[in-house]
Amino acid sequence: MISTVFVFVICKLYLLKGYSRSRHEQSLLPNCLPISAHAHLFIGSGLRKHRKTYARISKKAIQHNLKNEQARLGANCELFAVVKADGYGHGAVEIAKVARDAGVTGFCVALLGEALELRQAGIREPILILGIVDVAYVAIIAAEKLSVTVGSLEWLKKAKLKMKNQNNSLRIHIALDTGMGRIGFRTVSELTEAENTVSDSKLFEFEGVYTHFATADESDETKFNKQLEIFNKLINKLKNKPRFIHVANSATALWHQQIPTNLVRYGIAMYGLNPSGHALISPVSLEPAMELISELIQVKEIQPGDTVSYGATYEATDCEWVGTIPIGYADGWRRSLQGQTVLVDGQRCEIIGRVCMDQCMIRLPKEYPVGTTVVLVGKSGTDQVTMEELAEHLDTINYEIICGITLRVPRIYV
Ligand SMILES: *Cc1c(COP(=O)(O)O)cnc(C)c1O
Repeated sequence: MISTVFVFVICKLYLLKGYSRSRHEQSLLPNCLPISAHAHLFIGSGLRKHRKTYARISKKAIQHNLKNEQARLGANCELFAVVKADGYGHGAVEIAKVARDAGVTGFCVALLGEALELRQAGIREPILILGIVDVAYVAIIAAEKLSVTVGSLEWLKKAKLKMKNQNNSLRIHIALDTGMGRIGFRTVSELTEAENTVSDSKLFEFEGVYTHFATADESDETKFNKQLEIFNKLINKLKNKPRFIHVANSATALWHQQIPTNLVRYGIAMYGLNPSGHALISPVSLEPAMELISELIQVKEIQPGDTVSYGATYEATDCEWVGTIPIGYADGWRRSLQGQTVLVDGQRCEIIGRVCMDQCMIRLPKEYPVGTTVVLVGKSGTDQVTMEELAEHLDTINYEIICGITLRVPRIYV
């Protein structure tokens, strides 16, 4: 009896481990487990895949978006694909591989852990970490040949101490805060001291210097030009120019192409979304890579006066067909999407009542069979629901929608 319980507990631990580690593809179920042979369909990535809700990611769209931008780049300019935040919710490793095949020469991430995930997946190209990493980790950054952002003298001095006795040098990009007010050097004197610290030490490899614009996606260019002026003033004070001098996120690459830069940090536009929402028209065609798909799991007719979902905020005025879809706010399908429409058979159907944690309900124009496809984001018939439309409904930006789709939703690559 006790040994049975023991085996059960061990199995549970393995299952939990398998679930937390298998993020997209692989099922890590140890085959010694005394559980049903079909368990792999339900546990780990299967835990998510058996539910008919998924994000469909088009590799072709990613390639299309990258090819378009690559064609616009100057001769000496490289394109790094930004795959932070799990590839903006698209799956960092998968997207990195697609981007690499499309000719991208490096990657940007925000966190050390994100960089290591790519290395572990066999990505050998340069990876720049855009965030500030705790100096405690400089040895592993150097050993993995990652490039790291330096935003202050204090960090650099601590890093120097930590790097003593290391065989590998630390590849650094100096960040200049020219108006974003986030990270980076702001004065010539600090920048000069940083350059001196880096230059007279074999512990560092001064690989790049960069800035980030706060308003590159706006039609008024006043603040943008002010930042650019400050940037130019600062880099002109450098005694030695590093290999990469870079300023361009997607918005800068799209709408300020003329600015000299030899590295583009291409994020949102690679995923096919306009960095400005609707504000500015993209000079290149952007093809959204992510669609969100589900299906009807129950269909019923309700009577006038019947209510739907928590709080009974929706009351039928007529005999109405209601469909239930297995997606909710725990999937990143936000609670305030009540009132938004989704597509069934090319027709707009309103989300009625509150979105629950795992499910939500829509009003159907007629009875549809269980299993009918529901397009939450994407095309159906001649109509299309876009990330921008959701962003507008939620009073946010497309970035936040795609990053918010949780890991419970499997990513299917086509
Ligand atoms: C996230 C990020 C980018 C990419 O921005 P997009 O708008 O998605 O292209 C570029 N540079 C820095 C510093 C970033 O943090």
